[in-house]
Amino acid sequence: MRLEGKIAIVTGAGSGIGRASARLFAEQGARLICADLKGHDETAAEIGEAAIAIQADAGSDEDVQDLVQAALQRFGGLDVFFANAGISGGLASIFEQSAEDWQEILRVNLIGPFLAIKHAAPAMKERGKGSIICTASVAGIRAGAGGPAYSASKAGVINLVKVAATQLAAADIRVNAICPGLIETGMTKPIYDWARASGKEDRLGHLNPLKRGGEPEEIAGAALFLASDESSYVNGHALVVDGGLSIS
Ligand code: NAD
Repeated sequence: MRLEGKIAIVTGAGSGIGRASARLFAEQGARLICADLKGHDETAAEIGEAAIAIQADAGSDEDVQDLVQAALQRFGGLDVFFANAGISGGLASIFEQSAEDWQEILRVNLIGPFLAIKHAAPAMKERGKGSIICTASVAGIRAGAGGPAYSASKAGVINLVKVAATQLAAADIRVNAICPGLIETGMTKPIYDWARASGKEDRLGHLNPLKRGGEPEEIAGAALFLASDESSYVNGHALVVDGGLSIS
């Protein structure tokens, strides 16, 4: 059991990568809070008594504080915060996006991880160590994998974890990011639906050397590694899990 005795919060736990990660964390011995705007109840119900479902907006200061308080009150501590919730905004061009679109995408995708780090760290200091994982994206590394606001938000996450890692290292709190490539989830459903409807499934993942899209469980495995003590010397890192998309 790689997370035996650990207490975790997973945001975006109602779907896709967050749901797969919540399941895997629980299978590996964690007790956890499944947080989302929707779908979190189903995930927690599937997991059983190790999980609590809480409806929370990952970009809300108050909601993220409440999640941490809930972990302390219901489970007695916090070891892992997987700040995974995100929205894409589609593949719009700069001219198609408004300032309001940008504000909402940055609020959820970048301010959300900032709030997770800010509010999780004091609770983790009480435990003597902790691991914070933020979901970035290959779109934060290269152009062409997301719209402008999405890509900028994910690039911000990659740098945020480096800054936070340096500031929290003295408390033995590690902060890392995961950069998924194309993964079949609720977020990418329109792309998969289009490819299947038009007989172009072979186009999914055609840009990466493995020539396929990824599964949420393949990102959950990376999250488990970063959450567990196996990654005790990994800090401030952006772990790319993309079938090789970013190098091709
Ligand atoms: P998904 O849509 O299946 O899941 C995202 C979840 O986040 C949803 O359940 C949604 O309700 C939740 N969410 C959205 N806004 C929220 C908010 N304000 N507060 C709380 N929850 C909120 O998509 P996914 O692919 O599993 O996305 C998870 C993360 O992975 C996101 O950060 C996304 O940007 C990132 N990502 C996904 C891919 C991919 O190809 N699917 C690639 C790179 C990065």
